[in-house]
Parts: sequence; C-alpha cells; structure tokens
Amino acid sequence: MFGVESYGLTIRPRMAWMGRTRLHKVGADPLKQSGLDMAEEGVLKIRDLHVEIGGEPILKGINLTLRKGEIHALMGRNGSGKSTLANVLMGHPDYDITGGTVTLDGEDLLELAAWERARKGVFLSFQYPQAVPGLKVGNFLRKSVQAVHGDDTLSAREFRAELNAAMEALDMDKKFLGRYVNDGFSGGEKKRFEILQLMLMKPRIAILDETDSGLDIDAMRTVANGINASVDNAACLIITHYQRILEHVQPDHVHVLIGGKIVASGGYELAVKLEEKGYEWLEQEASA
Ligand code: ADP
Ligand code: MG
Repeated sequence: MFGVESYGLTIRPRMAWMGRTRLHKVGADPLKQSGLDMAEEGVLKIRDLHVEIGGEPILKGINLTLRKGEIHALMGRNGSGKSTLANVLMGHPDYDITGGTVTLDGEDLLELAAWERARKGVFLSFQYPQAVPGLKVGNFLRKSVQAVHGDDTLSAREFRAELNAAMEALDMDKKFLGRYVNDGFSGGEKKRFEILQLMLMKPRIAILDETDSGLDIDAMRTVANGINASVDNAACLIITHYQRILEHVQPDHVHVLIGGKIVASGGYELAVKLEEKGYEWLEQEASA
C-alpha cells in the first residue's frame, strides 16, 4: 500500500465521474449550476480572461469555474497558453491582464500579490521548479507552511509528524530535508517535491503545471496518490499533455486550450479521445 491513508487523509472514491459529462462546445457552460455560488466556499471563477505578454495576446477569453472537491484537467499543445494561465492565477508579474476577472469566493484575486494569494489558499506547482542553492528543503517547507498558515497553527512536532507521513507517502528519503531546494534534483525528484509542498500547504486552489512530465509509471502513481490525498478540500487544476496521469486522478472535467481559448470541455472521455486522435480534429473545428 502507499502510505497515503496513514497521512491521515482519506482518498475519496472518485468512480462516479465515468461517462457523466459529455463533450460539448464552449458556450453551454457545463459548470453552471444553481445560484448557490455566493454561499459556497472555495470557488475560483475565471471570466473572459485576456492576457498579453510583450503586447502579444496569449489568453483570449478564458472562462472556468473551479469548485472545492473538483478536479479539472487542462490540456493543450505546447505554446497554447497553459502555463500562462497558471502563472497569472498565482500572480506572476510579467503578464498584462487586458480584460476579464478572476475571483476566489467572490473576492478579486487579480489585485492581490502572489504571497497574498498564497495566504488565501492558492498554490502553484511549477512546470520548471526553481533551484535555490543555500536554502535547505526542511527549512523551506517549515517556513513556507508558517508563512501561509501562520506561526502557531502547528507545533514543530506536529509539523514534523505531517512531514514524515507525507514524505513516506511520496516515497521520499529523509535525506532530502538536508539538500538545497531543487538544487541538482532529478526531474522526478523536483515533481515529487512539488507534491510534497502541496500535501503540506493544504491549499484551497491547487494548480499543478505538468507535474506528471518526466515521471516513470511508478513515480506518476505515487504523485497521483499525493494529489488525490490533497484534493478533497481543494479545487484542483491539473495541466497536462498526457491522459496517463488522468487515469489515476480521475478528473471531473477536461478542458482543451487551443490558441489561448478553451475550445472544448468534457469528461474523462475527452482526454481519451485526445490521446487517440490528437488535437487536429479540434483545431479544425475551432477554425471552422
Ligand atoms: P504552454 O504552457 O501551453 O506550453 P505557455 O503559456 O508557456 O504555453 O506559452 C504560451 C505562449 O506565450 C507561447 O507562445 C510562449 O512563447 C509565450 N510566452 C510565455 N511566456 C513568455 C514570456 N515570458 N515572454 C514572451 N513570450 C512568452
Ligand atoms: Mg507550460
């Protein structure tokens, strides 16, 4: 068994997703539900989001609603704007937001700094995690959790217990704690470390940018277990090229980004179809 149960979080059976949603064209918002939004917590709403970089339009009207407990997959070719969306949601300063809104529980997210968003419970797992030589993993994790959740929410002992359980679940050697953040980490180690952060930070909105890339099958399963253990109290946006990770995390919704627009949304079967047929059929439909 993986140690995920021993981490103290149950993995919710996510079997009800199969065949629940059908492929449809954008316009008929599948996520639109009764008018309960105002009372709900953990709802991220992206409305008609337009983003440019260096005067070049990258995102051209993104609409997405992520709710607590939902897993959304965002798929698309390289250069379609997936990381741009992830970075904009976290507050990366390089991007110009030229239109639209992003709210978390009704509050404007776009006017907050990245650290303020982190405190509100937004978490980004980077596609290309940054090495920080000189900063030890153990210190980084403790300080990060304190910075986001407050100094006294966890005693050092409680933190250590959570850390040990999460590292065990992710099959990570304790020696990691003494290494410098991402310094000389292999691709797989970097991705596991991102998920370790996810498990400890317990975000409300988890954005995972290609966390599966470069992982072998076993590592992918381990990482997927970490995601599943973290997602019950979060809304999760999984950015990926591949259907494989989705076999393990079972998304409720799958969206396809082409040329800065979400051109199709559906259930897991959409990811399967993309794996079989590629993106061309959608590109043709999108340009027709
Ligand atoms: P994806 O993650 O889907 O591969 P990105 O969001 O990384 O796509 O990139 C979308 C487009 O934006 C690409 O054409 C890319 O070259 C461009 N882009 C992203 N970041 C920058 C940047 N910092 N400067 C210039 N262009 C950028
Ligand atoms: Mg990317």
